Amino acid sequence: MPSAVVITGPSGVGKGTLIRSLRTRMPELQLSVSATTRRPRTGETQGEDYHFMTPDEFERHIAAGDFVEHADYAGARYGTLRSELQTRTAGGVPVLLEIEVQGARQVREQMPEAVQVFIAPPSLDALRARLVGRGTDAPEQIEARLQTAEEELAAQDEFAHVVVNDRLEDAVDALVAIVRATTARG
Ligand code: 5GP
Repeated sequence: MPSAVVITGPSGVGKGTLIRSLRTRMPELQLSVSATTRRPRTGETQGEDYHFMTPDEFERHIAAGDFVEHADYAGARYGTLRSELQTRTAGGVPVLLEIEVQGARQVREQMPEAVQVFIAPPSLDALRARLVGRGTDAPEQIEARLQTAEEELAAQDEFAHVVVNDRLEDAVDALVAIVRATTARG
């Protein structure tokens, strides 16, 4: 039974929306809440969307060995706490991780049994349009995220599964099939 399902891919590709739909179809799946040093966006809640923390707090967790993986991304730090994996695995159901590519690589090293899914946009233009359209990031943040996205897209062949998020329903179907197949295999 895989202990984790890693959903990775560039910012703005729709990982969050896909995961919400996946969890509607498979409510037994829990999502790991990441730690980050980025500021909360409007509407984000401490402990629900992220464990928001100061750079010092984040450093202390690194020093204590509390992270399974952590990465610097677009000027902030992000990481998966071991405690999230421990508390959210119940009855052998894998925990979902929504993380960027550097973190996914670290999880591949640490947990080779974890299923890794790369979510790709139909095109870079489509990704830009989504990042601008969702209106959550300042223009310079969008540029930083798009630059990183080009590098991330170049890494997609590293991943066992690639799902193109063109039509949402098709992408969710593909994701459900991957998770069902891997959990059924045991
Ligand atoms: P955002 O700032 O848009 O919430 O997230 C920026 C990027 O960081 C996204 O690609 C998101 O998937 C990724 N991310 C979120 N949590 C983690 C984490 O715990 N570890 C890593 N490596 N990346 C994360």
